Amino acid sequence: MEQLHELLQQVIPDGERVLTEKADLASYSYDASFGVYMPEVVVQPLSTCEVAEILKLANKHKIPVYPRGQGTSLSGGPLPVRGGIVMDLSQWTSKLEIDTENMLAVVSPGVTAQAINNAALVHGLIYPPDPSSMNIATIGGNLAENSGGPKGLKYGVTKDYVIGLEVVTPEGEVIHTGGKTMKNVTGYDLTKLIVGSEGTLGIITEAILRLYPKPQATETLMALFDDIIDAGRAISNILSAGIIPAKLEIMDKASVEAVEAYRPTGLPTNIDALILIELDGHPEAIKDEIKRVNDVCLQEKARSVQIAKTAEEAAQLWLARKLVSPAIVRVKPTKISEDATVPRSKIPDMFQRLKEIKQKYNIDLVVFGHAGDGNLHPNIIADERDTEEMKRVEQAVEEIFQAAIELGGTLSGEHGIGTLKAPFMEMELGAVGVDMMKRIKQAWDPNDILNPGKIFPEPNQRFVLTND
Ligand SMILES: Cc1cc2nc3c(=O)[nH]c(=O)nc-3n(C[C@H](O)[C@H](O)[C@H](O)COP(=O)(O)OP(=O)(O)OC[C@H]3O[C@@H](n4cnc5c(N)ncnc54)[C@H](O)[C@@H]3O)c2cc1C
Repeated sequence: MEQLHELLQQVIPDGERVLTEKADLASYSYDASFGVYMPEVVVQPLSTCEVAEILKLANKHKIPVYPRGQGTSLSGGPLPVRGGIVMDLSQWTSKLEIDTENMLAVVSPGVTAQAINNAALVHGLIYPPDPSSMNIATIGGNLAENSGGPKGLKYGVTKDYVIGLEVVTPEGEVIHTGGKTMKNVTGYDLTKLIVGSEGTLGIITEAILRLYPKPQATETLMALFDDIIDAGRAISNILSAGIIPAKLEIMDKASVEAVEAYRPTGLPTNIDALILIELDGHPEAIKDEIKRVNDVCLQEKARSVQIAKTAEEAAQLWLARKLVSPAIVRVKPTKISEDATVPRSKIPDMFQRLKEIKQKYNIDLVVFGHAGDGNLHPNIIADERDTEEMKRVEQAVEEIFQAAIELGGTLSGEHGIGTLKAPFMEMELGAVGVDMMKRIKQAWDPNDILNPGKIFPEPNQRFVLTND
């Protein structure tokens, strides 16, 4: 340990950026999911050269390195499950350049998506990916998890905006993928391979991101339903009517009640579900779309459809949606946040399956999320100290994954696999699919030093949320 500390201090002579105090290490031992793992040392590099030197050192001595942004991962992504070095990239925020001519942003790994969007807005541009954690999570974390948000429906997710990366390989080599051109088909698309690789193939040290013109106008609507299955049908039918809202989110009764109990925003609690819709574009086109959305919702038995009259009213509705996560943990302390995703046409079927699972396991299941792209967020709220309840929760989560895959969907739409979902990888990809991914990992990282213990299941690894 002492020797490692000394070697790291040679790379980062500024003593304050190599942390070994127990209290510091403890701060890096958890993320927003489950599990606590202490690292041996934390480093906070501020340049590509420092990252490269640290990785060369780690690779030579076969020490695990765990890249970390702000630790908001919901799947265990940055947890140092085999000890070693945590590489905290959240402090590295020095570059945020807006290239208006090419409509691009060039950024350091620690910058937030919120900061990128704010800087773009000054020039009449936007950076559309909008994970709910965008004001705290880093772009490095967003890229590594391929994060998305409500706007994913119309504008796509992080991978749709990155056209170039600077990456340090596990062996400490610096590579540049893609560039500033909109088109690039030279060789394999390593940019897209790195995006979503959850910090297992390389450390992202710089990114080139596309920006879009800010839409001329936006309007927000809220439709109230007495049955969540009808809400699911309305969502499918809005989309099949050829309308692509900027956002199309759902909140079930439990999430509405939780928000109203936490910070009342005036949402009606005597409903089964509501959908929030944001339309954007040319004002005349929006007028027509509002009428059509209204008709579809009423056809699917919506109790009413309301249009926000002012920007403040619209902001209040979207705030309510953002408050769901903090609100539901007031009900019970442990939140298991899933993001199983299904094809859009299967949204009503998934709601039906979730209803059945909730009853079968007698769990507190709250459903909200990016319903428009099939990326629901079934959240289970429980109490970690209640072992019997946690066992029921584990079984329910397994059944949620099964339901999503049986309906042609996926384990994760945006939160990643990390440690938590690794046991289910074969269920979705098959043995050969997982093996092809493992071979890619071995080719990039022959000594398995970068974020080891993630994505791929350990032998006999089971899905557990409890210690026994
Ligand atoms: C309240 C809340 C709301 C959330 N809402 C959303 C949402 O709407 N949509 C969504 O997609 N996610 C959401 N998340 C999950 C999480 O915020 C995202 O996954 C986010 O992108 C993680 O960023 P981070 O900086 O916290 O990264 P971390 O959690 O620190 O790390 C995430 C992964 O990225 C890797 N990593 C980090 N930086 C780098 C780098 N520079 N190079 C290589 N690998 C790196 C880590 O090793 C790890 O595997 C939410 C989380 C919370 C707590």
